[in-house]
Amino acid sequence: MKRSNILIGKKKHIALVAHDNKKRELIEWVRFNRQTLLRHALYATGTTGTLLEKELDATITKFESGPLGGDLQIGARIAEREIDFLIFFWDPLESQSHDPDIKALLRIAAVWNIPVACNRASADFMISSPLMSGEYERLVEDYHEYRERLGNGSETNNSGSHNS
Ligand code: PGA
Repeated sequence: MKRSNILIGKKKHIALVAHDNKKRELIEWVRFNRQTLLRHALYATGTTGTLLEKELDATITKFESGPLGGDLQIGARIAEREIDFLIFFWDPLESQSHDPDIKALLRIAAVWNIPVACNRASADFMISSPLMSGEYERLVEDYHEYRERLGNGSETNNSGSHNS
């Protein structure tokens, strides 16, 4: 499988999301990492974003509240190569009304090989990595062939052979 590179610039585009039981933890983490975070472009789901703006005294890009589609909006920005870094403190002890959206967000983050932290320890390792201050080429599979495929429902595929 061929692969291609997508650049994560010096300035990361970081999405932050926390479920209700994890919001306090995320705010503490953000407080501790304030200086570093303010060097990057920040995005968040609605309620998380409102709390973080207050904590940081800075404007960040806010989407809908998670259960109202915010996770999916972040997922879309990942697929559009706008957001390239995800801090997602999801709650492992409670099911959520929008569990399918959470799965979709984590899935699309894996598809596009962006760094993801789902708990505080991972977020600590990620933000203290030397890679935070430079550019980084993330490798993704070359999805060109995947986009070009016609699937089994078509008369012909790319090579011109007939599908049955
Ligand atoms: P919220 O959404 O920031 O609007 O609470 C978070 C989530 O549940 O995904």
